[in-house]
Amino acid sequence: MVGFLGARPRVGYYYTGKTGAEIPIEQLKTLKVKEYQSIPVVVNESDSVYDAISAMFLEDVGTLFVVNADAKLAGVLSRKDLLRASLGNQELESMPVSIIMTRMPNITVCYKEDMLIEVCKRLIEKQIDAVPVVNQGPDGGYEVVGRITKTTMTKLLVDVMNRDLPMKEETHE
Ligand code: ADP
Repeated sequence: MVGFLGARPRVGYYYTGKTGAEIPIEQLKTLKVKEYQSIPVVVNESDSVYDAISAMFLEDVGTLFVVNADAKLAGVLSRKDLLRASLGNQELESMPVSIIMTRMPNITVCYKEDMLIEVCKRLIEKQIDAVPVVNQGPDGGYEVVGRITKTTMTKLLVDVMNRDLPMKEETHE
């Protein structure tokens, strides 16, 4: 685990944030979504706003994807969507997320074979934190298979730095 764990006196061991990948900077343009996507967290459109807030805390994500009864993408819930719905609202347990989510067809999606850098541009253009990775089924609906987020891009930056600017080893007191 050399390089993955650091040690500090009185702190103990900690994760250095390295993923093990070393990406040369010229390879950035050739990376595909499928190489960096993470696992999506989804809720059902009939779930309550209260349940969605719980899921966001329990799963430790900033964006939830909402699926319909056919398990197809129906919407997106951001932190601020949930905060807005919570302000002055006492009925969070009886209010379904379908009322407050951003809904299809206004969802920005990406596919496994898309270039990661293009998705990165979409995050900036649309001013959003996350994009679902989807498979399009024969019926036209989207199955949610992954997610690309601003954190994905931050990890990618660290992987590039590991390669091109090797991190200085921690000095131990
Ligand atoms: P926050 O609202 O917490 O700042 P975002 O910037 O990700 O988080 O979301 C801004 C708005 O855009 C929200 O209303 C959210 O529902 C919507 N949104 C988030 N992701 C997407 C997406 N992939 N496609 C379409 N709309 C999205």
